[in-house]
Amino acid sequence: MIPFSPPRIDERTIAEVTAALRSGWITTGPRTKEFERRLAAYCGVEQVIALNAWTNACELVLRWFGIGTGDEVLVPAYTYCATANIVLHVGARPVMVDVKDDFTMDLEAARRLVTPATKCIMPVDIGGLPADQEGAMRLAEDMRTVFQAEGEVQQQLGRMLVLSDAAHSFGAHIGARRVGAIADITGFSFHAVKNLTTAEGGALALNLPAPFSNAVLYRHFNVMSLHGQSKDALSKMQAGAWRYDVTMAGWKCNMTDLQAAIGLVELDRYDSETLPRRKAICTRYSDAFAGDQRFLAPSFGDAAREGSYHLYMLRLTNASEDQRDAVIAAIAQREVSVNVHFIPMPMLSVYRGLGYRIADFPNAYRQYSREISLPVYYDLSDAQVDQVVKAVKEAVTEVMG
Ligand SMILES: *Cc1c(COP(=O)(O)O)cnc(C)c1O
Repeated sequence: MIPFSPPRIDERTIAEVTAALRSGWITTGPRTKEFERRLAAYCGVEQVIALNAWTNACELVLRWFGIGTGDEVLVPAYTYCATANIVLHVGARPVMVDVKDDFTMDLEAARRLVTPATKCIMPVDIGGLPADQEGAMRLAEDMRTVFQAEGEVQQQLGRMLVLSDAAHSFGAHIGARRVGAIADITGFSFHAVKNLTTAEGGALALNLPAPFSNAVLYRHFNVMSLHGQSKDALSKMQAGAWRYDVTMAGWKCNMTDLQAAIGLVELDRYDSETLPRRKAICTRYSDAFAGDQRFLAPSFGDAAREGSYHLYMLRLTNASEDQRDAVIAAIAQREVSVNVHFIPMPMLSVYRGLGYRIADFPNAYRQYSREISLPVYYDLSDAQVDQVVKAVKEAVTEVMG
């Protein structure tokens, strides 16, 4: 059986985690701080904070910006549920936007949905292909006059916040800028299936314009993610430095040094090994499906941007949803694991129950109904890629003739 996306765990990963265990420092400490510094250097931003997941990290951002009841946040209909779930967590309303043929948010549709209650826009880099983040920044600027600021932070920015969901796109770039250095704040996920993993984990790249200080913001998120406590465990370790205060009823979502140990190894070989291998796999798939009218290969970039080769989102040109499902079953019989990214949120019970209807997002449905994600991971060999291609082509012939 060819699995879908096992993490890369080798002796180097195990040695680094073992070293962290032996150091006696297992929660947030020197390795997490080092990981943050290196993530910031990689992305080309001043400040990155590493936390325990994309979800909690980005939820903190919504809370910091003062988003709550009565507010609206623009999200694409086509994404993982986490993107919209955090909007519900803070009591605001996710306003879903249809997507373009490359799976990313349609900004023209988003523009029509902006109201005075719109506090944030969250473009998602599906499959690692950067959404039009620069376009989202321009949209936020254009809508300054519509924006109704509440509270000090919103007044300071004076427009909606652009929070990029880059759970898939670590290492992708738009022009000369890496993802992380474009939107106001960018959220990365280091979950086990993601391009760069820490088992579970996430990070925020802080890139707010003046008069914001991203260093001040870093400290703020540090406190927010640790109960609102004025000193973290590392600083309390210094002899005599016991006294602390709690300045807010904060949350608890810090990263541990065990996670950071994995992340440091992953980051060290990300550009030299991970990305080139993922790109080679995706290119091999695309070459194999090229010229076969039954298949539509995904885009990994254009003159303006290059993705991170996170998912190989193949589409069956003329398949219905039922036919796609049958093709997946036929692929599984050939010992290959595939997936669908994603079931559009309006089709999930929780969002249907809130009144969202997939009929309002025809392109999200059209992309979803014929999509199949193929295995992409570092240890997948060329021979296995060929085996996947063979299984997919045979399955399509079996189901669709
Ligand atoms: C994985 C994922 C998330 C959530 O990341 P966690 O680190 O698991 O919280 C958010 N958005 C998208 C698009 C994802 O794929």
